[in-house]
Amino acid sequence: MTVHLDLATVLLLHQCSFLVGALCFVYMRLQSRGGEGLGALAAGYFSLALASSLAGLGEQHLLTVAVWGSGSVILGATGYALFWIGVRRLSSGRLRRMDWWALAIPAVVATLAFTTEFHLVSHVRGSVGNGLAFSSLAASAISVLKDRAQERLPARFLLAISIGLGALLALLVILGLLAPDIAPMTPIWAFFLRIMCQFGVALFVVIIVTERTEAELRCLADTDMLTGIGNRRWFMSRLPRTAVEGNALLLMDLDFFKQVNDRFGHDAGDAVLVSFAEAISRNLPSGASFGRLGGEEFGLYLSRIAASDARAMGERLRNVVRDLIVEHCGERIPLTVSIGVAAVTQPQCSLADLFKMADAALYAAKDSGRDRAVLFEPSIRVAA
Ligand code: GH3
Ligand code: MG
Ligand code: MG
Repeated sequence: MTVHLDLATVLLLHQCSFLVGALCFVYMRLQSRGGEGLGALAAGYFSLALASSLAGLGEQHLLTVAVWGSGSVILGATGYALFWIGVRRLSSGRLRRMDWWALAIPAVVATLAFTTEFHLVSHVRGSVGNGLAFSSLAASAISVLKDRAQERLPARFLLAISIGLGALLALLVILGLLAPDIAPMTPIWAFFLRIMCQFGVALFVVIIVTERTEAELRCLADTDMLTGIGNRRWFMSRLPRTAVEGNALLLMDLDFFKQVNDRFGHDAGDAVLVSFAEAISRNLPSGASFGRLGGEEFGLYLSRIAASDARAMGERLRNVVRDLIVEHCGERIPLTVSIGVAAVTQPQCSLADLFKMADAALYAAKDSGRDRAVLFEPSIRVAA
């Protein structure tokens, strides 16, 4: 069975795919806060839809070739320049003002069209248009892949593949126009297959924007706004369901913190909390989970550590805090912390038990004068 594709129908489908894509981008632009690049992408796809419409009208002999030929090639060049600008912004998530130079390309194409009238010759017009499409799509796909080191988004690869396939098909259109004998498919078929890529690009752009928003929300939900470290929700999610033998929990509580607020003000108290979190974070062993449990209380979970080493770690961190002098608005604020250490020494210890033990040890540290790290022992429970 052979399927007959006529150019007017393919151009109409092209136009539809660009319009659907442009509407998706406009919708996402209005929905998302940042949405870097979506405006340029929408403008690019609208421009390409217009270029396809002009070519379609020309195909039906409703316009002279001088009008639709120049119009479609200039609008096409504008559309692909905007597409490149938009993809690079979307992929990196930031404004790239220098990229506007790409809009000089349609200006050059327009000048060449009016001076050489290349747009009147069908295969030259087609080759120039598809050559520009190939350059823009190939450069865009490379940008998307290059940015993966900065931000890992699963849909990045699928977007790069859709754009890359579009670039390959643009090359096949050129090959079909200039060397039909060796081309694996007719230009019209290559042109038709590009419609799928265009839908794919629109779909994966939407997925990338959604993935990015979800990652931001996840980060916000897990982060303590003041100190920037993980919050209680994040800390609890890092703990195993049951306490694992050989692991340890350290509960830290700043000493006389209320007095810091009372003497130096609430802002100074905030600055102390930030400095404390930074100082502890700088001194953690790899694989440790450290989070703010609330107020001036922090938790540290250590894996594969002996009870004596967990106690030594608590002691080391206590000294780090003791050496820390927080400077705020000309005031030098000294700081100490009490630390309760609980190590899992029995396999049947639950997480709740571990927290109770660390809490009892912290209570004992406060009770015996503060500024100390105390390891939980059964005698403490009796005393507490
Ligand atoms: P102790 O040595 O017994 O732990 O005494 P403390 O003063 O540190 O403990 P207390 O529980 O009496 O006071 C904790 C204070 O921490 C009370 C609260 O106003 C303050 N606080 C809680 N969260 C914040 C915060 O985000 N910023 C500031 N500046 N203060 C906070
Ligand atoms: Mg407290
Ligand atoms: Mg306290």
